[in-house]
Amino acid sequence: MSEARVIVVGSINADLVVRAKRLPAPGETVTGGRFSRHGGGKGANQAVAAARLGARVAMVGAVGDDDLGAEALALLAGEGVDVDAVARSAAPTGVALIAVDAAGENQIAVASGANAELDADAVDRAVRAAGPGAVLLGHEVPEAAVLAGARAARGPVVLNPAPARPVPDELAALGPLLTPNAGEACELTGEREPEAAARALAARTGAPVLVTLGERGVLVLDGGAAERLAAPRVDAVDTTGAGDAFNGALATALAEGRDLRAAAAFAVAAAALSTRAAGAREGMPRREEVRL
Ligand code: ADP
Repeated sequence: MSEARVIVVGSINADLVVRAKRLPAPGETVTGGRFSRHGGGKGANQAVAAARLGARVAMVGAVGDDDLGAEALALLAGEGVDVDAVARSAAPTGVALIAVDAAGENQIAVASGANAELDADAVDRAVRAAGPGAVLLGHEVPEAAVLAGARAARGPVVLNPAPARPVPDELAALGPLLTPNAGEACELTGEREPEAAARALAARTGAPVLVTLGERGVLVLDGGAAERLAAPRVDAVDTTGAGDAFNGALATALAEGRDLRAAAAFAVAAAALSTRAAGAREGMPRREEVRL
């Protein structure tokens, strides 16, 4: 197996979580909650997933010059992710304020902060400097930064279009492999079925489309007929971050030189395992746990 090099261009957040009996109504204060904070941001979560699976990972992103930024970088570095290409911005570190009630229902307010300042030229330089490898792009950073990452890539390009935001023609023309979940695929295309949405997206990129289907696995469209790869059955505790695990694992497997179907099967297996623990990162599996 060749060494897998993964370059993630994406978001880095601090998740500030209060668990309370119930969610506050507008204008209301709910007391008695328990606070915890976690490393978050889809890009950073994907970087952690890839690093735990054995890839050599470089994170390209931006945090604030503040305590939350320092903590976010320390968490990534602690996972072995190279954070040299993470800029310290004048804007505050991205934050997700998350309230969770006793039934697990949540309410989330996000301030993207430094993520929205990620500079396209800095991305271009960082991706070029990182050399050959799979490049994983996400929608929680500016469109110009995503485009710069795709242009500078020397290796497979995976675009996780989450949250759904139109993919501009310039970016689609570069032929990124797209990995929306079913909701995003439908929102991006106006289609109602994942397969029709995948076909509409593939018509724009001329590249494979993988639509993740939660506990039903993933739909793989690569040219001809679409194929569904089932997810292994697991006792899911928390599916937060399952999509991030999927994307980090997919990029890792592609960087190792696996073909698309094998990479998708690996990603489905890793993503299923990631749901066994509470929290987005806590359940991200290590290489030896994914038997594929
Ligand atoms: P997102 O987290 O982005 O909404 P999905 O819910 O589609 O994306 O989940 C991404 C992937 O995680 C799925 O394709 C599947 O492989 C895996 N997954 C999610 N939920 C489960 C589950 N309950 N059991 C097994 N695998 C799951």
